Amino acid sequence: MKNITIIGTGYVGLVTGVGLSEFGNKVICTDINNDKISKLNSGKVPIYEPGLEEIIIRNIQNDRLFFSLDIAASIKKSEVIIIAVGTPQSDHGDADMQYVDSVVNTIKENLNNYKVICTKSTVPIGSGKKIIKSLKSSYKENSDFNYVSNPEFLREGSAVKDFLWPDRVIIGTSSLNAYETMCDIYRPLYINKNPIKRTSVETAEMIKYASNSFLALKISYINEIANLCEQVDADVHDVAVAMGKDGRISDKFLHPGPGFGGSCFPKDLRSLSYIAKENDVKMSTINAAIEANKKQKYLMCCKLENLVSGGLKGKEIAVLGLAFKANTDDIRDSSSIEMISFILSKSGKVNAYDPIANDSMLKIFPNIAYFQNVYEAVNKVDALVVMTEWNEFRSLDLRKIRSAMNGNFILDTRNILNMKELSALKFVYDNVGRQKI
Ligand code: NAD
Repeated sequence: MKNITIIGTGYVGLVTGVGLSEFGNKVICTDINNDKISKLNSGKVPIYEPGLEEIIIRNIQNDRLFFSLDIAASIKKSEVIIIAVGTPQSDHGDADMQYVDSVVNTIKENLNNYKVICTKSTVPIGSGKKIIKSLKSSYKENSDFNYVSNPEFLREGSAVKDFLWPDRVIIGTSSLNAYETMCDIYRPLYINKNPIKRTSVETAEMIKYASNSFLALKISYINEIANLCEQVDADVHDVAVAMGKDGRISDKFLHPGPGFGGSCFPKDLRSLSYIAKENDVKMSTINAAIEANKKQKYLMCCKLENLVSGGLKGKEIAVLGLAFKANTDDIRDSSSIEMISFILSKSGKVNAYDPIANDSMLKIFPNIAYFQNVYEAVNKVDALVVMTEWNEFRSLDLRKIRSAMNGNFILDTRNILNMKELSALKFVYDNVGRQKI
């Protein structure tokens, strides 16, 4: 059991803090965002993540989980400091390290005894070396530390499960002491099988980028196969199912759709491409996946425009699903942003609905109409487009929708609607790579 400070209480920091407190550690989750910390201190969870609230409450009650704006004091009290701030994409395509740099300075100023300093944020390969150099640059007495790269692989929407039962935990460090400390904070994980793998700092940093990029590549690949299926009368669903039965391929991340979004894949691919360029290494596959994804998002917009007879000008379109995927309120780089922008650019009107993410999207599009349920959103619209694979969209009452809509056009970018039913109800529909019925 260790005393741990998490710096940055976003999707990753919060889940990590909560997960490590569940493992028996004493954790202070810190942030500079007053609103976030106040909410957490009054028992409210600032993000939507299934199962999170329950464990937060349990660990607060057990005196193992705390939230604070006082980062300096928290650092001084802790043996392990975990950096979990954002590393968004900069204007040049590489990761913007300003938040990490600022945290490293704060840590440097408050090192009062030996600590393990760990980066969980996704940072460019080589960042660890720079962080160590920076931390050593103003050596004070009693400011000894060891450094660890411990990248995070959780998926939003199933983050709690992913953190508590991970496929692997990567601990990149040259220090045996730091390695053992990290093993200690993850101790309950290796009661059954040990998912921990020790590597060098640089290898750990690379594992994160290589994993995300591979998954993104897989999505872009099946999207391109889907687009070809449409031209050659093949059905991508059957293709993906059959491919997935091959153990070497697996059925994960073989779902065609409107292009990947979210806070990780788009920026991590760009960052890896940037790192490769800096190192004079050509990564054709990564660049192709980025390009294919950009095209896929645009292709969905074109599909909608081609589907709705007479074009989008003056048409009312219901956009169902705003989050970049189901079970999260995160809309960062969501394909629905492109779709809404496109409809507006063609002088169409948008009726938006998401079970959780309306408020997040309101900040980007304050002037479109938001609704609290599907059936209100589709009332009198000319067309409907499904952008997120929320479970509630899988079982829509299509008959009710048909009679509420003025038009009969449906674009299903997630391939979750029943084509037989759509045909029977005389919808004019399109999807991604399926043979129409
Ligand atoms: P986020 O934007 O949700 O959270 C970042 C938090 O850091 C915010 O609450 C912000 O207020 C806080 N912050 C910024 N500067 C700070 C400072 N100086 N001191 C204290 N707090 C500060 O980001 P996220 O989605 O949690 O991602 C964090 C990192 O984890 C990124 O590098 C990301 O690539 C990586 N990651 C994210 C996911 C994911 O699914 N979101 C998964 C794996 C890895």
